[in-house]
Amino acid sequence: MLAQFGDDAKLLAGGQSLIPLMKLRFANPAHLVDLNFISGACDIKEASGTVHFGALARHAAIEASPAAGKIPILHDCAAGIADVQVRNRGTIGGSLAEADPSGDWATVLFTLSAEVRCLGTARERTVSLPDFIKDAYTTALAHDELVSEITVKIPPKGSGGAYLAFKRSAPVYPTASAAVQLTMEGDACKDAAIALGCVGLTAIRATDAEAALRGQPITDKTIARAVDAARAAADPQSDMRGSADYKRVLVGALVKRAIELAVRRARGEQVEVGHIYA
Ligand SMILES: Cc1cc2nc3c(=O)[nH]c(=O)nc-3n(C[C@H](O)[C@H](O)[C@H](O)COP(=O)(O)OP(=O)(O)OC[C@H]3O[C@@H](n4cnc5c(N)ncnc54)[C@H](O)[C@@H]3O)c2cc1C
Repeated sequence: MLAQFGDDAKLLAGGQSLIPLMKLRFANPAHLVDLNFISGACDIKEASGTVHFGALARHAAIEASPAAGKIPILHDCAAGIADVQVRNRGTIGGSLAEADPSGDWATVLFTLSAEVRCLGTARERTVSLPDFIKDAYTTALAHDELVSEITVKIPPKGSGGAYLAFKRSAPVYPTASAAVQLTMEGDACKDAAIALGCVGLTAIRATDAEAALRGQPITDKTIARAVDAARAAADPQSDMRGSADYKRVLVGALVKRAIELAVRRARGEQVEVGHIYA
């Protein structure tokens, strides 16, 4: 149908981004192609150390999924998106396809080994998440392609992650957010991935902050170095949620707390992680 209707058609998943845009007349497609009746498109399965999410898997289904629960940072993300009404309709595939700079999924999945399966009329291809998200509201999808599945590798033993966002209230996007995924070997950090949300046109991998932790014991000193590097990597804009300076300070505080929580989870502690509300 996308091939038939060309630019006049838009895919409809949960409608939680598209319908508000249509109400505001920022989007006015002549045709809506409803994905909601494709069987199996909501499935969440684990196979060979990988969790497979059908593109139509709802945030609420991911929050409740034992397979997704094997990667606790995914639960942090799913459980913190907006309110229960949005979580019951909104989908992981729609969120990535929308590529909203404030969307939670891309930030979290940037810290994991995640791939997006894209299905078109003539081809099927797998794109790594960093290659899929091109810019704000821009992805690698061609017009006749849809996201069919997202796959996420389960991190190795000794790993732990945490995702924290600072929000004014539940049904709004975060002011800033931080995702941290660590692999520990004894007291030393063997591997680190840190991504920052809402402080740039896309989620930002804070590579210097990761380097500050990798191969080091996690101490107040190494955390402080990582926090400084994360603040330097942020590229926030001043807006109704706060000034650029405020967001830079905020993202550092979120990174610090997320590192501490990730270390505890990597050590096997069961830690509940919830967003921070103003
Ligand atoms: C009040 C409110 C608060 C929100 N707060 C948050 C928040 O805090 N954090 C957050 O991350 N999100 C938030 N959202 C957005 C929500 O997470 C959406 O679910 C998400 O943006 C994706 O929307 P959807 O699945 O409903 O897709 P839709 O709105 O149906 O589609 C979104 C876009 O993606 C395209 N699309 C959808 N599915 C596919 C597919 N499989 N392949 C290719 N293209 C596709 C559509 O054509 C459309 O352009 C909020 C939404 C609302 C209404």
